[in-house]
Amino acid sequence: MVKHAFSALLCLVNGLLIAVHGWAEPVANSAHHGVILQYHHIATDTPASTSLSPKVFRQHLEILKTEGYHVWGLPELVTALRAEQAVPDRVVVITFDDAYDDIATTAAPLLNEFGYPFTVFVSTDFVDRKQHGYMTWDQLRALQAQDVTLANHTRSHLHLLRRDEGLSDRDWLQALRREIDGAEQRIKAETGQNWRYFAYPYGEADAAIIDALQDWGYLGFGQQSGALDKRLLESGMAPRFPFNEHYRELADFRVKASSLPLPVVQETFPGWVFAEAVIPELRLQLADHKGQLTCFASGQGPIKVLSKPQHVYVIKAPKPVAVGRSRYNCTLPVAGEAGRFHWYSRMWIRKRDDGSWYPEP
Ligand SMILES: [Zn+2]
Repeated sequence: MVKHAFSALLCLVNGLLIAVHGWAEPVANSAHHGVILQYHHIATDTPASTSLSPKVFRQHLEILKTEGYHVWGLPELVTALRAEQAVPDRVVVITFDDAYDDIATTAAPLLNEFGYPFTVFVSTDFVDRKQHGYMTWDQLRALQAQDVTLANHTRSHLHLLRRDEGLSDRDWLQALRREIDGAEQRIKAETGQNWRYFAYPYGEADAAIIDALQDWGYLGFGQQSGALDKRLLESGMAPRFPFNEHYRELADFRVKASSLPLPVVQETFPGWVFAEAVIPELRLQLADHKGQLTCFASGQGPIKVLSKPQHVYVIKAPKPVAVGRSRYNCTLPVAGEAGRFHWYSRMWIRKRDDGSWYPEP
């Protein structure tokens, strides 16, 4: 694999990294970013919103193999971004949430055929009680022969924002810590893995929860789309591109897998969770760039982007965001590369007008 050739070179020149910068090919083809793909089921008999068919999943793997991608494990990408090491362009990480058994029976053999590492974010209570449809600890251990990263998705897959009645902020954060540390301990006890990588159930969190996660030493991964750089990794909610039967077009996969992060210098937004009708205003300051920033709001199509001096953009939908989870997605063409885009997403969560939580579909 090209990845290993590249790592070997870095080893050989350990202490002489300047020499690497003078080496023509990797520089021309190097980057400080990657893309994380998120899947749940690989199956045809599970809900469309959390499933992709084995046929389309195989097509994703074929594209990664034949169109110049480097499939890395999550720890490799995290380590490289944190250390600000140059990585090859088009690095992609494959992740699965929830540890469904079709990952062991259907996805893992396909990934093995391609020699690709992957990550499973495990909600440990389901595995502990041998719930139908989930992997067992034996299955998870067996996957480790295949370069699998086993990471944290809470014990019970709770909604982190839906606080039990009567609990103070402090007590609720303590309850969340028991969920998250508890899952980490179970994964460590059963498999020896202990990464402190955490995927938010439903991709939901707010600033207080993200801060707490970071204080507890976890690296958080969300479900808002977009390419990843060091800034986003350290933001506490790294983006991942979700794929399911509603997003199964291969052209869409190609755009997402090849995307680059938006060069955000500064970002302001009014909050994470709203309990009334609001039109959130997102302000992005970008590094010097060419091309036109285009933004979309969930269910509203293209939205107005006001361009201000110094590459500042003010982004606001015409209508309030809908109850539930929604997003503003913004793209910017990559200069000189037709069909490639910088991609950025900001998630909004809106409760029902009476302050209660929306039902989970
Ligand atoms: Zn989940």
